[in-house]
Amino acid sequence: MKLCFLLLLFSPLPSIISLVSPPSFTTHLRPPTSLNSILPNPLVAEIKMSATVELFSKVKAMEAEGKKVTSLCVGEPDFPPPQVVLDELVNAISSGQTTYTAVTGTEELRSAIAADLLKRKHLQYKSTEILVSNGAKQSVYQGVFAICGPGDEVIIPAPYWPSYPEMVALTGATPVILPTTIEDEFLVNPKALAAAITPKTKMIIFCNPSNPSGAVHSASLMSEIADVIRDYPQLAVLSDEIYERLVYNPSNPHVSFASLPGMYDRTLTVNGFSKAYAMTGLRLGYMAAPANLLKPCITIQSQLTSCASSISQAAGVAALTKVQESEMEANVEIMRKKRDYVLSKLAAMPDVKSFTPDGAFYVLPDVSAYYDGDDATLCLDLLENKALALVPGSSFGAPGTIRISYATSQEELEIAMQKLGDFLKESRQ
Ligand code: PMP
Repeated sequence: MKLCFLLLLFSPLPSIISLVSPPSFTTHLRPPTSLNSILPNPLVAEIKMSATVELFSKVKAMEAEGKKVTSLCVGEPDFPPPQVVLDELVNAISSGQTTYTAVTGTEELRSAIAADLLKRKHLQYKSTEILVSNGAKQSVYQGVFAICGPGDEVIIPAPYWPSYPEMVALTGATPVILPTTIEDEFLVNPKALAAAITPKTKMIIFCNPSNPSGAVHSASLMSEIADVIRDYPQLAVLSDEIYERLVYNPSNPHVSFASLPGMYDRTLTVNGFSKAYAMTGLRLGYMAAPANLLKPCITIQSQLTSCASSISQAAGVAALTKVQESEMEANVEIMRKKRDYVLSKLAAMPDVKSFTPDGAFYVLPDVSAYYDGDDATLCLDLLENKALALVPGSSFGAPGTIRISYATSQEELEIAMQKLGDFLKESRQ
């Protein structure tokens, strides 16, 4: 091997060939078997690409054929970022804010995040306990990777955001899925949680409000969950609160996990700007955690990506300090109306079970009375026959359900619900 390398290095061939026919040089000299001998890291080889890939590639193929597909797949708001955010993006560019910032984020943004968490969530973090990342997704992964590894178990309530189990597997730890039921409105049952904890359990990933169910855990249920966790000092909680601004029931407001008595010291709070401020493409999220838990996350980020975009960080400060509360509330009200519209249409479809989710912008109805519960085939046929794209619940660990994202225009929603109703009816004829 070494000999071959040395021969190649000192061979006069490259210079001669490059004079004659430079483009074919690499093609001619590449040893034919070398690519087959490079195997991926076994950890990565086991990681699944999103189960919705098949669906998306079909959507793309249909669109390429000129068909108009109605898609309720996406997890992003249909409204633009607030004007003050857009203005600040332009200002940041023209005023030259284009250099690296500190790995952890600008002091301005970290202070604004700490002030926001204190004001709205009653959480007391110092600005040094905030790590700004390239989207909340990066913070979730860094949090898991910083704490969990081979031999550890991580409890993930289902239905879950599909990245959680894959991120856990990437660290070498084992995802342990904790099922919930639609009868319980997909809320975590504290007794079931207690039964799932073993001496190997290192972390629980708690997504509240939930993607994909929209469920919001009440303050009293969360205290019961905290009571279970309190008995296990080795247990960390990664609380993904990315949808916390999108809640619809004033009598069930969102509560931050770290604000529960005794939970602050073990909680990694993850949040971001994608959902609340429609800043998905700007890739801005953060983690808030006590210094000892945050430190290994900072170390990982320093070696992977350094800082989040300086321009996005400037826009993040504007989002937190300049956007009027009335603008945020107006967006929430529009979403609530869309949720209610979708639920009213689902209620008229025979044997479709759903409940009223208090948050996020998804509903996850149970359609197991159709297609013998095969949600994946149902979604493929729905796409083929009606050009309506929905994500099968089995990709979220909830077989027999379908996920509807209602973050789209009212016009699209009306077309989609008509198509779904017709499809389910025709499937029984
Ligand atoms: N957590 C959940 C539950 C999400 O649904 C998403 C986005 N789909 C994220 C985290 C990541 O968000 P971001 O765009 O900030 O990376």
